[in-house]
Amino acid sequence: MTKYIFVTGGVVSSLGKGISCASIGKILEVRGFKVSFVKCDPYINVDPGTMNPFQHGEVYVTDDGAETDLDLGHYERFTNAKLTKENNITTGKIYYSVITKERRGDYLGKTVQVIPHITDEIKDSLKKVAKDNVPDIVIVEVGGTVGDIESLPFLEAIRQLKQELGPTNAINIHLTLVPYIRSAEEIKTKPTQHSVGKLREIGIQPEILLCRSEKPISQELKKKIALFCNVALDAVIEAIDVKSIYEVPLLYKQDCFDELILNYLHLSPKKGNLEHWQEKVVGVLKNPEHSCRIAVVGKYIELQDAYKSIYEALVHGGIANNARVEIVKIDSEEVASSSIKQLMKGVDGILVPGGFGYRGIEGKINAVEFARRQKIPFFGICLGMQTAVIEFARNVCGLKNANSTEFNPKTPYPVISLLEEQKNVKIKGATMRLGAYPAHLMPQTHSHASYKLDLISERHRHRYEFNQEYRKTFEKHGMRVAGISPNKKLVEIVEIKEHPWFVAVQFHPEFKSKPDCAHPLFREFIRASLKKD
Ligand code: GLN
Repeated sequence: MTKYIFVTGGVVSSLGKGISCASIGKILEVRGFKVSFVKCDPYINVDPGTMNPFQHGEVYVTDDGAETDLDLGHYERFTNAKLTKENNITTGKIYYSVITKERRGDYLGKTVQVIPHITDEIKDSLKKVAKDNVPDIVIVEVGGTVGDIESLPFLEAIRQLKQELGPTNAINIHLTLVPYIRSAEEIKTKPTQHSVGKLREIGIQPEILLCRSEKPISQELKKKIALFCNVALDAVIEAIDVKSIYEVPLLYKQDCFDELILNYLHLSPKKGNLEHWQEKVVGVLKNPEHSCRIAVVGKYIELQDAYKSIYEALVHGGIANNARVEIVKIDSEEVASSSIKQLMKGVDGILVPGGFGYRGIEGKINAVEFARRQKIPFFGICLGMQTAVIEFARNVCGLKNANSTEFNPKTPYPVISLLEEQKNVKIKGATMRLGAYPAHLMPQTHSHASYKLDLISERHRHRYEFNQEYRKTFEKHGMRVAGISPNKKLVEIVEIKEHPWFVAVQFHPEFKSKPDCAHPLFREFIRASLKKD
């Protein structure tokens, strides 16, 4: 029988609930349990696919083409869980399904209400994850902070589900903040008491408190928290700030957090430790032998979360090369030909990530040109590939004013154009080319040398493509196609021959990189960047 861990958050947002859930998954996985996850997002959008990165941060894409919350990225990076559209639910998705059933007449004349119909729909979604791939443990992260009106139906649903499952089959972990008040030089427990009080008001008594704190929490204070919040003393876990997110599972393990959870759930674990993670990931992060600086040229760089998976994948590429990667975030709107030399000073590699819309495009094109001319390793991802193609068309093939029809529908040279299948698409939600598709790699390319495979599978999220009418012109001038869809219709990778490392891909390799198994293209991009003097 699948057991459940429900994780809620209190006091403030941004405590790192996603990393906590991923780390809990990791420490349980090494003890021999198959884990899966559900992220519950209380907003009314059906999925984050239509949201602006300023609102939401990165949209993480799964193999089955779901546009999901970026926490699913943490879950997949930390564990072996394979996630799908079932692993992220939102208020919008739940209501959409309930209203569709109501219109079909499925409720047989009943009044459709939040309790039981919405809560039943939530519970069914949580149970479906257990049914589909039979994990031993499902970790359910409830987004938002306890006390928010919009997360109430989710909290009620997990309360009911725990009741149904029984006490040894489900537990609640509450992630809370124990702030340090500098002027008083004291750590305060009151916000945690209030937050747990709020949970108990709606019938949820957490078993475990995970206390985020910038200072160590004394035994005395732990006792106080335990007493006021009605939890066992050993269930007050201190989660102190760490430098790297990859240290979190190690801290949990050190505190025997896995034992505590497994005791509550009456599960007998296998022996297992995090030696590999300690040595191959955290050890290298702490004491790397080399270092390099990678410029990421995007329009959402002031936002920490907009390129989350890319930043992580760069770190992984560093780990694979025993190197620290310093990420230099460059606002694409500020990249003018006149200032680029200064902006790129000391940079060893340039990456242009994905994106939508014209703002910042010319700056990205300038960055590509600089990388191409100066022979700096270049990695283009999705829109980054499309800008690389536009730059090559304009500056090497002599196709003046070449562009993507996304930015200029009247361009004389539409080197990037709308995918055939997109031509009749009218609505925006979940209609891009999404999810995993195979591609063949050409021999004697950087891509083939990186993957060491003839056939790969990568995740996509786009509406536009390389226009093959120009393929011959590009090849004549030295840009080759290194990866192509099996029916040969879609160009998935381009490379420049006369360049140390210039690879641009239509897909999103960053979604499949892990700290202990870097994506081959990120690994090789960093390797090439390290070679630059
Ligand atoms: N805007 C481009 C397209 O739709 C690129 C998308 C992306 O970078 N994810 O094709």
